[in-house]
Amino acid sequence: MKCLVCESFSLSHICPTCQDNFLKPSIHKRKLLNNIEVISFYRYGDIKDLLHTKHTNLGYYIYSILAKNSFGKFAKEFEFTHPITSIAVDDNIRSGYSHTAILNKALTSKNIKPLFNKLRAKNPISYSGKSREFRLLNPRDFTLKDFSDKEVIVVDDIITTGSTLTQAIQTLQANKKEVLFCLTLAGV
Ligand SMILES: [Zn+2]
Repeated sequence: MKCLVCESFSLSHICPTCQDNFLKPSIHKRKLLNNIEVISFYRYGDIKDLLHTKHTNLGYYIYSILAKNSFGKFAKEFEFTHPITSIAVDDNIRSGYSHTAILNKALTSKNIKPLFNKLRAKNPISYSGKSREFRLLNPRDFTLKDFSDKEVIVVDDIITTGSTLTQAIQTLQANKKEVLFCLTLAGV
């Protein structure tokens, strides 16, 4: 196949050289509700075209490559006194796979144990391109399937206004979980 970026022959959808050149994370941070930190690995504008593959048949491969270069590297270097649980926002299957589950799975490591299908939005509405007001008026209405661990890392693919993650945090806190921090692939 051809590398999507440089079009040279490659065994992967993005060749190793382009992964080195273009997919090194540039970590940035912001704070949400109760000062909970959100760490984003890429600027949205820098990987916009790759993120747009999400609903195509390339999406699974591209998200896997992005996840390995960002969440995977983060998890390898993450030190903690004990293993922590990570859960993804709304990791139900769309277009044949779940893009947030791919990110969450890449966190599997000595100190992070991903759990799947725990945090679901009852309201399937999309916030993409919608205003903050629209988001406030149309809550995602998350439900949590319970699990024993108390401390949680929350995973999502893109943060824009922070409405989705804020609602996810509120749901977790209402269920007596402590959100340590959030991780997103891209932030604006
Ligand atoms: Zn390339």
